[in-house]
Amino acid sequence: MGAADVMDLYGFLHVDLNSFFASVEQQLHPEYRNKPTGVVPTVADTTSLIAASYEAKALGIKTGTRVLDAKRICPEIILVHGDHATYAEYSHRIVAAVERVCPVAHTPSIDEMVCQLLGREREPARARQIALEIKQAIRDDVGETLRCSIGMAPNRYLAKIASDMQKPDGLVGLLPSGLPGSIAHLDLRDLPGVGARTEVRLNARGVHTMPELLALDHSAMRRLFDSVWGDRVYHWLRGNDTGDDGAPIPSTIQRSLGHSHVLSPEHRTPEGAWAVAHKLLHKAAMRLRMEKFYAGSLAMTIKYALSQSQAAGLKDGPSGNERVKKHGSGLTQTGWGMEARFRPCQDTLSLLEALQGCWKQAPGGREHAKPFFVGITLRNLVPEGEMQGSLFEEPGNRRQLSATMDKLNLKYGHTTLHFAGMLPARESAPTRIAFTQIPVQYGHEYM
Ligand SMILES: [Mg+2]
Repeated sequence: MGAADVMDLYGFLHVDLNSFFASVEQQLHPEYRNKPTGVVPTVADTTSLIAASYEAKALGIKTGTRVLDAKRICPEIILVHGDHATYAEYSHRIVAAVERVCPVAHTPSIDEMVCQLLGREREPARARQIALEIKQAIRDDVGETLRCSIGMAPNRYLAKIASDMQKPDGLVGLLPSGLPGSIAHLDLRDLPGVGARTEVRLNARGVHTMPELLALDHSAMRRLFDSVWGDRVYHWLRGNDTGDDGAPIPSTIQRSLGHSHVLSPEHRTPEGAWAVAHKLLHKAAMRLRMEKFYAGSLAMTIKYALSQSQAAGLKDGPSGNERVKKHGSGLTQTGWGMEARFRPCQDTLSLLEALQGCWKQAPGGREHAKPFFVGITLRNLVPEGEMQGSLFEEPGNRRQLSATMDKLNLKYGHTTLHFAGMLPARESAPTRIAFTQIPVQYGHEYM
């Protein structure tokens, strides 16, 4: 064994369960096995699947497919009412099964586990054996329907990529000696941390493919990403361990994201401002999830138009801490803003609660009767990868609901989901993502 071979070692296993919710249902109900099965939040034709079994996926049915469409494609599809508590319990049992073989270092989500390999475990043959034993332990201890794809790689970043490369029941290894050629066929979006917005930025800078990305040296990568993260991705993609384990996507890449909107004159009422704020929050929350961040605070800004006498009164009056200034449009205005801090989250409902908390603090009175500008900013962003295991602490199934909403919004464009408070703003803040009604029973079961 030469020196080069000695270095050809894995460092991490990334275990990703396949069609997790649907597989749990097939485990609990043997009569569903080997049959197209969909998991729904509630039993109604108006809702959409939150998971699909591999038999359903083979027919083109997937997460986000509407029940009506699923039934059209496959009239005999089995639809099961999902139960998050059961899935969480199965997740814990799977972690226990994996730990019988190898300690679990991280649980990035309800259906993902990461093991760090040590010593001789890092040797390719031994790592492969551990991966096969993990698959067997899950089948033996939890159930035969629970299959997983396992990625083996020198760092966590590549291990996650590898776990996505073969489904279902995959086992893919990315050894340092084969890199980066073994990932050159992937799309940029297959890279963790490269969301829709980052992809647009990379494209704008002339990088459209993996070979184009891989042709850059580390300083060009740093410039491309405007961040030291570009350096790290450069090293991770080549199988290097840069001192960290290849997991975190540093929040220094991006500290905040937000949207603002100037209200049209007919919407310059507190109700209109609330509706716009609500809609902006949905846009920002969806972007937050697409870019794989959690937010630790929310800032709300409102600007109010003033009459001349109101402007004079505010300048002289007791509430003189409000700054009065002339807006570029010629409006005389006063502004108000606040920032709410909370445990980092990424689901729309938790963020909506923070927004409501801010809104209750917004000033009233005649000087604040004509809001004309609303801004929402999510701050203290934490990369998703640094929030491991947090799903178990989140109330209900908020994250799953948000993820499903995003998929539907992306799929159907003009007929997507929203909460009722946004209705008056539907025409107000034009966006690529339009909004329609969320079925009441969907909300009832899952919020
Ligand atoms: Mg999965």
